[in-house]
Amino acid sequence: MISKKFVQQQKEKLEKEKEAVREQLKSFATEDPKLKGDWDTRFPKRNGGVGGSAMEDATDQVEEYVTSLPIEHSLEIKLRDVNLVLEKIEKGKYGTCENCKQKINEKRLKVNPSARFCIKCQK
Ligand SMILES: [Zn+2]
Repeated sequence: MISKKFVQQQKEKLEKEKEAVREQLKSFATEDPKLKGDWDTRFPKRNGGVGGSAMEDATDQVEEYVTSLPIEHSLEIKLRDVNLVLEKIEKGKYGTCENCKQKINEKRLKVNPSARFCIKCQK
């Protein structure tokens, strides 16, 4: 049985992780107000671009946008996982594998507080 104290510690770690991921996302994306948990990468807008080579600027912007997209996607998934696990804590289901319903190893949870599956099912 997982102790309440352990779950509480994990919850604190997850809350911190959630904030860290949100901060990262905020630096280049905007949360979609209509769709909870969905973030949109902002198309970078540069100020003071007048006078420089417009074409070069546009290429840079597209490149920046294209590099940000996969980062945004993985952060979004991370955030979603953290939120799902926080919900599991609320429901008292923390540490249970969502696939086989077995207990997830505590060591594994320590290393990866947002783990939703046991090692066997993760593979
Ligand atoms: Zn499992």
